[in-house]
Amino acid sequence: MVLVKRFPVLSFIMKSEIPLLLKHRKRFLSLPCSPSSFMMRTVNSYPFYPHSMKRINRLTTSANLNSLPPLHQTSGGKVSRKAKKKEHMELPESLLKFKLDMCSRHGKLVEALQLYDEARENGVPLSQYHYNVMLYLCSSAGSGSLGQGDSENDDNLKELGMRRGFEIFQQMAIDNVVPNEATFTNAARLATAREDPEMAFDLVKKMKNFGIPPRLRSYGPALFGFCKKGNADKAYEVDEHMVDCGVSAEESELSALLKVSMDAKKADKVYELLHRIRATVRQVSESSAQIVEDWFKSDFVASVGLESWDVNKIKEGVVKGGGGWHGQGWLGSGNWRIRRTQMDKKGVCQSCGEKLVCIDIDPKETKNFASSLTKLAREKEAKAGFAKFQVNFIMNKLREMSPSKRYPLLILHKRRVHGKPDKDPKNQKLLEMWEKSGALYPTPLGSDDDWYWLYAAVHCNCLLVTNDEMRDHLFQLLGSSFFPRWKEKHQVRISVSKHGIQLHMPPPYSIVIQESENGSWHVPTVTGDDLETPRQWLCATRSKNVSNSLSDLF
Ligand SMILES: [Zn+2]
Repeated sequence: MVLVKRFPVLSFIMKSEIPLLLKHRKRFLSLPCSPSSFMMRTVNSYPFYPHSMKRINRLTTSANLNSLPPLHQTSGGKVSRKAKKKEHMELPESLLKFKLDMCSRHGKLVEALQLYDEARENGVPLSQYHYNVMLYLCSSAGSGSLGQGDSENDDNLKELGMRRGFEIFQQMAIDNVVPNEATFTNAARLATAREDPEMAFDLVKKMKNFGIPPRLRSYGPALFGFCKKGNADKAYEVDEHMVDCGVSAEESELSALLKVSMDAKKADKVYELLHRIRATVRQVSESSAQIVEDWFKSDFVASVGLESWDVNKIKEGVVKGGGGWHGQGWLGSGNWRIRRTQMDKKGVCQSCGEKLVCIDIDPKETKNFASSLTKLAREKEAKAGFAKFQVNFIMNKLREMSPSKRYPLLILHKRRVHGKPDKDPKNQKLLEMWEKSGALYPTPLGSDDDWYWLYAAVHCNCLLVTNDEMRDHLFQLLGSSFFPRWKEKHQVRISVSKHGIQLHMPPPYSIVIQESENGSWHVPTVTGDDLETPRQWLCATRSKNVSNSLSDLF
């Protein structure tokens, strides 16, 4: 079995709704004994943090939350702390902060402006926080998000937000209040409201001068503003600034750049951007797919491309790029034939008949990823004994594991092992047996078991059996450059039907934008990224590349 050779341990991970003992609707599943060791776990649904979500939504106003003076924790007991807190809360600036927060929460601009004006008249010291809340409200009004659906009033509110917003931003500079990232982002939103991407871009440049590293969202107003106006050259300038500042564009930024390049008929830029999307986004959303589709459908592209090319150079390009693309520019001439299609199990395009390639992961990359994963897990799971897990368990355990030993390795959260749900005697017996044989690792209380199985699977180059799409917070920490590729090649999904349990192996081809040696393109969409729906692909090929038999079908 090829699989066993490639993957010494087959990790087996599953969602809790799939029963192991079919009689009991708990989380276990009895599997036919595999020739390889298995690793299993149950997936605890990742805790949802409403507070942190809220905080993300309100980032623009909460960026400076820590400016609140620390509570006096050392002297005295609860009473003194309480008293000091009360004293602090009664300061006019604290009261103002509280009231402005209320206005921000309820989108009350007029009220906030009144409070602001009063505070200025009375000489209340205004901090960065106060200004940021004001700017947030003004920019929200300016962008129309505080509107109530009454067009006349809404227009007035917009106008008021923009006018006062710029004024407050200027006042902040006059008062020598140091701005932060949120200040600039809100000011850039004001610029967007005025349809002034030039100003938004200036603000990002100013941020740099203030020593504030711009973030991806800082660029949005300038980049999308220029793209909306069809000003491709200025949009590229913003893009360059982002690259210089080490900010990576994501799908929405790259798609906007793709669209503006397309409209400006800049074929080389479109080509370059498609490759950037290939390298960073891999699979596109519906809106990006639409842009790509429009490009290949446009009359202009028929005239774009080399009539003849050096086949060897193309092959060299493919090898150099690691497979799946050559990067030598548009090939061929004439109209493109663009279709929405699917791949068969082997990766053969159902539209043009071309077979997609499987792009290998460089073992060095896996090694680097494993190291960074260890570091990250140690940071995040420091208290929960991750290091102990690593030393005492994984290293020894995996050394022991050989193809002849067939016990699964089951990683379970401790409360699953010793907690209430598993009081069922049959489950208990099974768990005891596994624990005794060393096949079960209960992760410590208070830990996030995701770290454990992921660590084990990456370090041993295992397949990981899970229906968890691994898109949660924790997986986002891992970044988008390596993890999605690793996941694609190592995730085995399970489906349960009346016919039994089926394992769905990783596809033998890479689900990434592919450019073939004859110049065709295949663009996977995120639509159908599950077991039930087949994934949608865009197939773009010059008509003459399609074999006669297949083209007759269309
Ligand atoms: Zn095709």
